[in-house]
Amino acid sequence: MIPYSWVESANDPSADFPLHNLPYGVFDRGEGARIGVAIGDQILDLREVAADVPSPALVQACTATSLNSFMSLGPGHWTALRNWITERLRAGAATRPLIPMTDVTMKFPVEIGDYTDFFTSLYHATNAGKIFHPDQPVRPNYKHMPIGYHSRASSVVLSGTPVQRPYGQTKPPTVNQPSFGPCRLLDYELEVGFFAGPGNALGKPVSIDAAPSRIFGACLLNDWSGRDIQFWESQPLGPFLSKSFCTSISPWIVPMAALEPFRIPVFPRPAGDPAPLAHLHSREEQQRGGIDLNLEVYLFTPRMRSVGASPMCLTRGNFRDMYWTVAQMLTHHTSNGCNLRPGDLLGSGTVSGGTPDSLGCLLELTRAGTEAIHLPNGEERRFLEDGDEVILRGYCERGEPGSAEHLRIGFGECRGVILPA
Ligand code: CA
Repeated sequence: MIPYSWVESANDPSADFPLHNLPYGVFDRGEGARIGVAIGDQILDLREVAADVPSPALVQACTATSLNSFMSLGPGHWTALRNWITERLRAGAATRPLIPMTDVTMKFPVEIGDYTDFFTSLYHATNAGKIFHPDQPVRPNYKHMPIGYHSRASSVVLSGTPVQRPYGQTKPPTVNQPSFGPCRLLDYELEVGFFAGPGNALGKPVSIDAAPSRIFGACLLNDWSGRDIQFWESQPLGPFLSKSFCTSISPWIVPMAALEPFRIPVFPRPAGDPAPLAHLHSREEQQRGGIDLNLEVYLFTPRMRSVGASPMCLTRGNFRDMYWTVAQMLTHHTSNGCNLRPGDLLGSGTVSGGTPDSLGCLLELTRAGTEAIHLPNGEERRFLEDGDEVILRGYCERGEPGSAEHLRIGFGECRGVILPA
């Protein structure tokens, strides 16, 4: 049964933030940063109601200015607050003042201590591998562990923050000497970000069975990438300055509890692929490790903006296509004893599927710039140009709209416009 809210805008079947979503974010309406929960087009101010929440630990978490404290508390407290908020916003509960989203500025929600970016779509790994090392597109380790690299937490920015085209050192194969200048092959990567909840002590790995309870929630993530910089620098140690200049995240963090109805079996491994090693394998994870999450990329060029046109959809993908799950990412990350801390960010890697319309970056869509994308207004793109805006959207949906079984939650948007170098 669809749960209804007394907040009318939350009951629209196409709403991103119905009663069964309740994502957390940090907002400011001129009184400093506060934690809030999105409901329809409104925000419940958790500081305002903190005196009534179920436990002293939650009172403290709800009056903080970032989500780290709440993330550190773990699933028992997360469930207690989620149930309390649900009762307060459910149809029939007393209506109380909320804050219109249009009255606030969203702030960065989490103090991210560390950010790790993975590479968990086999489709993306194969397509990108064919470009970066055609001799062996998918390396022998890929199907045995979720490959990742330590990325940069300091340059993770909130959706809406402009993205400056980076400078970098490049050397196209056609020239003999490298040169330093503005990135010419600027790209986006469609990803999902996951936030660690209670961390783990140094030297104490998190088992695959425990991993789901250590993940707080998810957001949209754009791992901006300078491909010409990446081509030249990432041999042999992988991405560095081609990635560290900026990563954008969406402002609302969808709790894993809201994703429960959309959990599905893991990506079916092609025949002949190895099973995960025992420490990355559990029956529960195999049955519910996937997430049926639709993801979209839109491009909005200055010319489209100037004539009032709509952004063009470049990609429709789904997180179900990922070869490794978020629990496997977290377990692998901690399997050597490395400690994660509350609010650490894990990027999924580019979400690409097996069809041409589900490729999650321009590198794949344009085959490294060899095939242009033709926009409806006659423009062409191989990589991003100054003034281009990239918009990521995501939603989970099941059942037919209008039916009693219909259930939908959205992630909102993650946007960024490119500024000149
Ligand atoms: Ca990436």
